[in-house]
Amino acid sequence: MLSLHRRAPAARLCGSRFGGIAFETCARASYIHLYFGTEAKMDVKALETASGSVDERAVERASSWLARGGLRPTRQRLALATLLVGDGEDRHVTAESLYAASVSGDEKVSLATVYNTLRAFCDAGLMQEVVVDGSKGYFDTRMDDHPHFFWEDTAMLTDAPADQLTIAHLPDAPEGTEISRVDVVIRLRRTPPQA
Ligand SMILES: [Zn+2]
Repeated sequence: MLSLHRRAPAARLCGSRFGGIAFETCARASYIHLYFGTEAKMDVKALETASGSVDERAVERASSWLARGGLRPTRQRLALATLLVGDGEDRHVTAESLYAASVSGDEKVSLATVYNTLRAFCDAGLMQEVVVDGSKGYFDTRMDDHPHFFWEDTAMLTDAPADQLTIAHLPDAPEGTEISRVDVVIRLRRTPPQA
């Protein structure tokens, strides 16, 4: 019996993905995972709340988060880190959604910078990338192994309950390789209303 919580000893490869299996999970309520998207009004509101509450405590959290990854707290990094972890909650973002979130802030960053900074956060072991469909990277501040729900109608990524997931068997890794990690992404679509 292989639990998803078993972390492979190999170095975490940000953005890596084993075979065609893509999964993920966090046993926390979905409201803590603000999605910085433009699709849903609710998310925009959540985002405004998040960026409006940037205070000293949030900047403090962000700078100690950067320090944990051994990253120099440049103004741009600090601004993005504050949006990501300033309120002490975990988040799933895309480069685009984090960029949209940063626009109202004082520190102007380009989309390319946001993307590169997210990559740097991954390389520093502060975030992990969740590959949903190969075309768009989602970045997660939660670092333990956990499955995700991907909401196809809103392209939103949220944590799925890890304690309900069991992976009974995985294919043997081809000779000369070992499993680096297993991502679990459970895709959701809305069911038609009951007649
Ligand atoms: Zn997550």
